[in-house]
Amino acid sequence: MLIPYNLPPWLCMKPSSFILSTLIPRKSGPGNDIDVYLQPLVQELKLLWTGVEAFDAFSGEKFNLRAPLLWTINDFPGYAMLSGLSTKGYNACPICLDSTPSDRFGSKIWYCSYRKWLPADHPYRCQGDKFCEKFGTNEWGKAPSRPSGTDILRQQEKVKHVYGKSKAPPKKRQRGHDDDDDVQDESDFGTKRSIFFDLVYWEHNLLRHNLDVMHIEKNVSENILGTLLSMDKSRDSRNDREALEAWRIKSHLWLSTNPNGGECMPPASYSMSTEEKERFLNVLQKIKVPDGYGSNLSSCVNMKQRKLINLKSHDNHVLMQDILPVALRASKATKVIDLLARLSSFFKKLCSTTIDPDDLDGLQNEIILTLCELEKEFLPSFFTIMVHLLIHLVEEVKLGGPVQYRWMYPIERYLSHLKSHVTNKAQPEGSIAEGFLLEETIRFCSRYLQGVKTIFNIPKRMDDDIPNPNDYLFNSGGRVIGKEVSIRLDDKSLKQAHRYILLHSDEIKGDMDEFLTEKRQMNLQNPVTESDESNWIINEFGGWLQNKVHYIDATTEDGKLRKALAGGLHSYGRKLKGYIINGYKFLSTDRDSHLLTQNSGIMVEADGDAYYGKVKDIYELDYYGDYKVVLFRCDWVDIHRGVKAYPNGGVCVNFSKLMHSGRLLQDDPFVFSSQAKKVFYIEDEIQKGWLHVVKNKPRDVFDLGDSLPVEEEGGTN
Ligand SMILES: [Zn+2]
Repeated sequence: MLIPYNLPPWLCMKPSSFILSTLIPRKSGPGNDIDVYLQPLVQELKLLWTGVEAFDAFSGEKFNLRAPLLWTINDFPGYAMLSGLSTKGYNACPICLDSTPSDRFGSKIWYCSYRKWLPADHPYRCQGDKFCEKFGTNEWGKAPSRPSGTDILRQQEKVKHVYGKSKAPPKKRQRGHDDDDDVQDESDFGTKRSIFFDLVYWEHNLLRHNLDVMHIEKNVSENILGTLLSMDKSRDSRNDREALEAWRIKSHLWLSTNPNGGECMPPASYSMSTEEKERFLNVLQKIKVPDGYGSNLSSCVNMKQRKLINLKSHDNHVLMQDILPVALRASKATKVIDLLARLSSFFKKLCSTTIDPDDLDGLQNEIILTLCELEKEFLPSFFTIMVHLLIHLVEEVKLGGPVQYRWMYPIERYLSHLKSHVTNKAQPEGSIAEGFLLEETIRFCSRYLQGVKTIFNIPKRMDDDIPNPNDYLFNSGGRVIGKEVSIRLDDKSLKQAHRYILLHSDEIKGDMDEFLTEKRQMNLQNPVTESDESNWIINEFGGWLQNKVHYIDATTEDGKLRKALAGGLHSYGRKLKGYIINGYKFLSTDRDSHLLTQNSGIMVEADGDAYYGKVKDIYELDYYGDYKVVLFRCDWVDIHRGVKAYPNGGVCVNFSKLMHSGRLLQDDPFVFSSQAKKVFYIEDEIQKGWLHVVKNKPRDVFDLGDSLPVEEEGGTN
């Protein structure tokens, strides 16, 4: 599959831009023989490097179209096939190559020595007894450096690989027994010369093959969950404990005998007792996530066997990014919560859509330290090659930019879409080729269709484009979902809403100053406090302004708005069930309670504080005139009594400790829809009534900075 990268972010990784270049008709994967099938592609890439003549319809001129291959996106076995580097055995890391720190531990290989990446004088280097190194040795080694493409090419050129023979079982290399240099058919730098080196620029590319964050995250998450819940993929078995004793490390975890003569495995810091597992799984079972966030996790919980089953890659992704640390905290299920929270925050920062290059060194130091801390707690068997690869991910971000343009998610999704074309199981390739061609043809035609729904203008899942956004004050216009009913707002709510709008309108600032000066002059004999002034505003300002409405000059745009605001809110409005704005979907709590998803959580940031709440009602109100406004009426948690913050960033809230009931005139239950950010809550299993906050990011919203013109459609290029 080819992905053209000179497209804006909202088109770049979309299926409509993918080009299916190669389809290999085989029952099993081609393995190292993939190069044979890649030859036509490489030929075309060579041609594109020198350039082909193309016609630019926009300028009406011919030009030389050139394109290089930037990198490949592949899973880890795919990495080996495309790069010709080995991703198995002791030298499995395609970046550390023959310096991959690895050793045999019991029946497994462990990828060790994360202390090599620490500064030379770091105290951890001489605390051998706390880490996983055999016999608790200290670590003074240096971290391996990334080899250049030229280095790899020089080495791979020595390898003799015969294509079409990869069905024969690969020769097992024995450690410590090197073949004679001249006759070896596999160098330390891999199994073959990668065909991509035929491209003259390939050896100079800094990042040739991407380590796929999607699969790495999935594997790390499976390692953790498997070990915590002692599931099939547990990295803590009886054999591992035996191997610990053989290595003379972590003596507190060696197998021992209990009083009645049986063998027992002492619990490690991460071990969960039966009740702890149940609490943890209970939290996961009760979770309701926002619409479009991820699949329903509760269906993956098997309470009977105390296991998580059928977790997909994306489930592992949301677990690692957000839910795991919160669910562990909400169930107080293990002693390594903070450590796992650090790992989770690493993944979150790594996968964020915008990254500041200056933060990357800090992120790298963070993951090195986190891995060292993990080494203190977990057994060597936990450190599979996938865990080792974490250490290289930040460098790849430095070289290649944000992860979302370099990982397998869009590709895996598209591959499964291609599979859906298969109607004739005897000839799947034919079906895929036909299906793709048909789609490509339709896609091509639809570029030239205007005013019709095509693949290029289908609405997003969280589409909030509306035809008349300027009618709404404070950018509060969005898309209404569900039923709407006409209502008459009670007097108090009307005043609360009106006051909220006035206090946030810059156009009214002058009037407010005038009002306060007038009031102060009337109260010259009494000392005026701040609370007096806010009481005046609450009780009198609206009425005072309304009396002025006839004197306001409405010939300018500003004046028109001022006049409308002064006139006051219309008491009739619309009550909405749901609303989509800024890429978020909000539903009122009574609608939400019938659903398996959670869309009423709201967060608003004001004056450096974050306020958490739940959307109770959504109103669309209007001023006499042309201006409308959409307001959310919410229950707000008291920021002093109802919010607890954890040292590493987690927040807990309690909805029995509200800021106010909203029933008094001075209460302030409203916010503009445009201010709202979405969160969702996870119930705590131990402290009843407390909810853990998870922040939710909008989908398909791109931060383009201020200087770029926003151009939505693909156009006809
Ligand atoms: Zn490595």
